[in-house]
Amino acid sequence: MSSPKLAFLGLGVMGYPMAGHLQKAGYDVTVYNRTATKAVAWVETYGGSRAATPAAAAEEADIIFACVGNDHDLRQVALGTDGAFNALKPGAIFVDHTTVSATIARELDQAARALGCHFLDAPVSGGQAGAENGALTIMLGGEEEPSATVDPILQCYARKTKLLGTAGSGQLAKMVNQICIAGVVQGLSEGLHFAKEAGLDAAAVIEVISKGAAQSWQMENRAQTMIDNQFDFGFAVDWMRKDLDIVLDEAENNGADLPVTRLVNDFYSEVQQKGGNRWDTSSLITRLHNRKVK
Ligand code: NAP
Repeated sequence: MSSPKLAFLGLGVMGYPMAGHLQKAGYDVTVYNRTATKAVAWVETYGGSRAATPAAAAEEADIIFACVGNDHDLRQVALGTDGAFNALKPGAIFVDHTTVSATIARELDQAARALGCHFLDAPVSGGQAGAENGALTIMLGGEEEPSATVDPILQCYARKTKLLGTAGSGQLAKMVNQICIAGVVQGLSEGLHFAKEAGLDAAAVIEVISKGAAQSWQMENRAQTMIDNQFDFGFAVDWMRKDLDIVLDEAENNGADLPVTRLVNDFYSEVQQKGGNRWDTSSLITRLHNRKVK
């Protein structure tokens, strides 16, 4: 394919800079955003063009990327009245970066095939900073050929991409990612809570144990901000609840036993109840503030 024409649907915290990387790399990008002002600002910043509906953005595109909120939102931009699937060119590739269920990934894969097109689920990890710095990790599900076509383009904002199997496999891998994060954040929260109750200087403890086996991305990047009670660093509790609900639904299907993930999902629900919906996920520690069991 000579330089493909691209469309990008959803210019949120993640999509705005991701689409920007594509245009900066020299691709011809048409963007769509439900709230048009963001699309206007994007075109002023990066160039390219904007369309009024997902279908209008998709009609000339060889590859269409989406990064919206949840299953419902993805269904609307893909299959809704003005959805992109109404206008896909034969052979077009639809790449979804939203974190959604494996079920909708498989549904869109079937819908794409019926149109002579391709679908790839491609959820991302790395947060707002990863999107802005072009350093995302991308977990792919779908067929090898469209994945190979899209991969060089994904390099505009990825530092690692991997095809993990048929449609839905990328979403299943993202679920593994979220399961791992949930347990680690709770462990770090309990460690910092214990350090405080034990009368230790928590920052000094982290300085030393982060050089040993307790080290983690969460410890490196969030321990100090958790000690400082700052919870404005990207991935929101509401998004994590969405993701863990998806994980627990999938576990119902495949029989996986996830006792800690289930508990941490309930703990995040407590954080929401005290108004922490938009706090970042390290705010899990706030449940433990001023808490003693005896
Ligand atoms: P966000 O800032 O809330 O942006 C969501 C985008 O989706 C906006 O462009 C929004 O349009 C659009 N949208 C939502 N519902 C829609 C609908 N029904 N029809 C059309 N457009 C709709 O979210 P984000 O942080 O970019 O996250 C996007 C996805 O990436 C989520 O699935 C999230 O779980 C995942 N993710 C996020 C992070 C992170 O750190 N933020 C990290 C990894 C993965 P409007 O502008 O009109 O609201």
